[in-house]
Amino acid sequence: MNTSSMRHSVDSSDIALFGQLDMVYNHLRYVESEQNKGKFACKGSGRCCKIGLRIHMFECASIAYHIRQQYYLVMEDKGKDAADEFMNSTVDRLVDAMFDEDWTDDGKTTRFCAFYDNGCTIYGYRPMVCRAFGTITHVDDYCPRERNEYGHIDYFSGPPIEEAVKAFQDLIKKYSDGKKKDGNYDMVVYMPLGVLSFLLPDEQLGELYQKTDSKFWMSAEGWFNYRTHFTKLYGYDKDVLTKAANDAGHDIIFDDVEEGTLVEIER
Ligand code: SF4
Repeated sequence: MNTSSMRHSVDSSDIALFGQLDMVYNHLRYVESEQNKGKFACKGSGRCCKIGLRIHMFECASIAYHIRQQYYLVMEDKGKDAADEFMNSTVDRLVDAMFDEDWTDDGKTTRFCAFYDNGCTIYGYRPMVCRAFGTITHVDDYCPRERNEYGHIDYFSGPPIEEAVKAFQDLIKKYSDGKKKDGNYDMVVYMPLGVLSFLLPDEQLGELYQKTDSKFWMSAEGWFNYRTHFTKLYGYDKDVLTKAANDAGHDIIFDDVEEGTLVEIER
């Protein structure tokens, strides 16, 4: 395997986009604060974190960037040994998630997310899909929130949310367009692998590839394939996304991953 194309890096133009991403997250932070004032507030069960997410490489880059920043903050506060311990334990948890036998490519698993440890350890920079759950989308049956008379929760919708989701999609597209010449950035991947691809050197990525199931190394190509409920509900219309996919020579894949629709990450 040639892992040189799987190793990713963050440059200064990406950091500007992470700032814009944080502004989009601010919309969802506000919505969440409104949601938590009322009857349908999150009860903090953590049950929705029993999942193995697949997210776009852009958000993997943002998470990895913030983990590196956290590394230096720990160093400043507690010294280099503590910072190394923080980074090693973070990487260990992500690597461990690459051996999850129960994980299936629709995200289902019996384990908690690699970033869950009695709560989300990346809460301030967790991905959009986590922010959307129960704020701008319905919740699954396992969620212990109160329900309305129809058996559902009330969640937020309307033009400001549609615009926020479009802005999110625009950012992913902008990031991907800027990376075209580098390849392997415009894809939806298993989050632990995507984040590790920014944190581990080529050699270790190569070793990981040899030791782990190929299911973790499959991707959905393209910014238009960020497969979450909210992009169907609020973002660009499906025909816009389908056209973008067709123009790029890819299939559109939403929540129903059919066998054969994912492609192995280029080696
Ligand atoms: S990133 Fe955080 S909020 Fe999202 S599933 Fe993982 S632990 Fe839960």
